Amino acid sequence: MAEVSEELTRAGADVGAGVGADVGADEATKHYVRERALAVVLTNLAPAPFLLLPFTLLVSSLMRDNLPAERFGWWVIVAVVATAVTLLAMYRYYMGGRADTTPWHTQLLVGLAFATIGSLFGLGPWVASDGPVELVLLFTLFPATASAVGCIVTAGRRDLYLAFIVPMAGLASHALLTHGDSRLRGLGMLAAFFGAALLLLHHVVSRSSVDAIRLQWRSERLLRDLAHERAELTGVNEQLAATNRSLAHQATHDPLTGLYNRRGTLELLDQMLAELSDDHPVGLLFCDLDRFKAVNDALGHRGGDRFISIIADRLARSLEPGSVAGRMGGDEFVVVMPGLDIRGAAQIASRLVGVLAQPVYAEGREVPSSVSIGVAAAPAHGVAASELLRHANAALYRAKAAGRNRVELFDGHMQRELVTRLENEQALRRAIDDGEIVAFFQPEMDAATGQIVGAELLARWVRRDGHVVAATDFYGAAMSGGLLERVTEKVIANARPHLRRLAMLGLPDGFRFRINMAPEATERSWRDDPIDFLLQGVDPGLVTIDVRESAVSIDLPSAAANLASFRARGGRVCLDDFARGVSSLALLRRLPLDEVRIDRLAIDTITSHPHDKAIVRSIIALVREIGLQVTADGVETGTQADALIALGCVRQQGHLYSQALPASEFEDYLLRRMAERYVQVASPHPTWETGELA
Ligand code: GH3
Ligand code: MG
Repeated sequence: MAEVSEELTRAGADVGAGVGADVGADEATKHYVRERALAVVLTNLAPAPFLLLPFTLLVSSLMRDNLPAERFGWWVIVAVVATAVTLLAMYRYYMGGRADTTPWHTQLLVGLAFATIGSLFGLGPWVASDGPVELVLLFTLFPATASAVGCIVTAGRRDLYLAFIVPMAGLASHALLTHGDSRLRGLGMLAAFFGAALLLLHHVVSRSSVDAIRLQWRSERLLRDLAHERAELTGVNEQLAATNRSLAHQATHDPLTGLYNRRGTLELLDQMLAELSDDHPVGLLFCDLDRFKAVNDALGHRGGDRFISIIADRLARSLEPGSVAGRMGGDEFVVVMPGLDIRGAAQIASRLVGVLAQPVYAEGREVPSSVSIGVAAAPAHGVAASELLRHANAALYRAKAAGRNRVELFDGHMQRELVTRLENEQALRRAIDDGEIVAFFQPEMDAATGQIVGAELLARWVRRDGHVVAATDFYGAAMSGGLLERVTEKVIANARPHLRRLAMLGLPDGFRFRINMAPEATERSWRDDPIDFLLQGVDPGLVTIDVRESAVSIDLPSAAANLASFRARGGRVCLDDFARGVSSLALLRRLPLDEVRIDRLAIDTITSHPHDKAIVRSIIALVREIGLQVTADGVETGTQADALIALGCVRQQGHLYSQALPASEFEDYLLRRMAERYVQVASPHPTWETGELA
């Protein structure tokens, strides 16, 4: 029955979905009430099988001397049948399983049980009808009493009471109406009337039972609805809690690596530093992958991401219990190690450098990997998260400057270095914004003819007091502050109007401005076409782009494609700093080149060291052999110039001719040189061809 009511509850819970739903709910209520009433009736009926036969047997044995045995016999037989049918009906009902609805045949059997019981008591007057009137009256009491009891037993099920009262009243009335005594006939009519009155009474009793059942069902339904809503509410709360947890996780974790992100790491570091004491220090590692831009260039951004997640995984696996790793962004990771001082932290850092130096297998190929680590520890190097991170970062900077793939520990000296570096970076940033970074022009000469053939654009910082700072003096700050690209942009933007003006005045044939391109030091990779971006508004026919081996080896195919496209637009390409360190000769073939510029270090010693002279001679011979022009940088003395001319390198640049000049001075210098040239051309010396000497 519990499941029946559950089912009904569900039907009831649907109320509100419209008229159809109301009708459905009414039907469900009726059905529930009928089933509940039947259950109550059957409970009330339970004692009947144990009473019917003993009652008839008792009465029969008490009255056997006063009445014929045959009628008692029939009466006992009916009692046996009534007991059997009642037992069978109860058996079918209780053993019928937990179906929602009692089957019609079981209900019929219950009705039959009531009919047989009614018949048993209704036969009372008939059993005694051969006896004296008093005895008939006594036996008439049986149906009278039974009808009243039956009214209570079948409350809520009129059909069952009908099945009970109709045969009982019918048989009793019939026996009384057919009796010879006129008084009993009157009683028979009274019995029929009594039966009808009891039906009315049953209706009243039933109504209160049905109301009670209905009330019970409603309260059950209410309770179940409440339980259901509470369960739903609990579900919603759990969902909300899960969403909150996931949002909190997202806010503090890096989606690519699953490690803490910058915010999560800082929060965690703050927590750990709150428990800081001399006995409980906190070690901090600031790690940055070496040359990760090259990995990105080689594998693409997705491959770079894969590389980062492999490294993050390795890092997380290599940590001691209690230590936590976080990704600060890009290729930077931080490891927080509670309980470790600078020595302990340094040991872990050395181990990590080894672990992270194993090549990484990504995008189907093996890629070399290495990391630089800066180490600091609290409380020795600061007690606030920002201070500790800054100091570990300063140590990292030292590790990078010292050649990468290594560990550096923070010390007081670094603190001063850090402050100076930050000040320098800040000053340079301000200088860029204030337009103090300008282009200077250093002339390039044909040493054989004395003609000016080009000029190199060089960055200079002209301070407010007029003091000029050379690029080498602020290159470090530009690199560490990520300002190189802005410096290059500023220089070209500053030079652009001068280039146009000089072009309008008329430059000597073949004159070129030399611009140095070092994308390895900028955020812009070769794939982004840095030349096109930087030279907007400048005629490529006036420009020679200088590239160094280190600038192109990051992504040689893209660099070569970029340079080839620049040449196709009229530009020239020069391989700069050739012969510095280990220069790859293969580059001469793989890059689209017009010129090679010999490194100034090789020029410095050309006159003092015979080996250097031999090297420069072979370079010049080689370069000219493959059809490229050769130029020399950093020529400071006449002897060097002569030596280079003798070796076949006539395009020269250096302090021997001129230092880098501001735009206006360069314009004067250029015009002067051109005027001198015109004078030379206007008064030519005699030549063999004209025969004037003869
Ligand atoms: P260094 O040895 O000086 O650290 O050289 P580096 O090339 O690693 O230079 P740096 O650490 O300054 O540059 C990190 C690069 O990482 C810059 C950026 O192009 C790249 N990067 C930043 N975030 C992501 C990212 O989420 N995914 C990928 N694939 N690359 C990223
Ligand atoms: Mg890096």
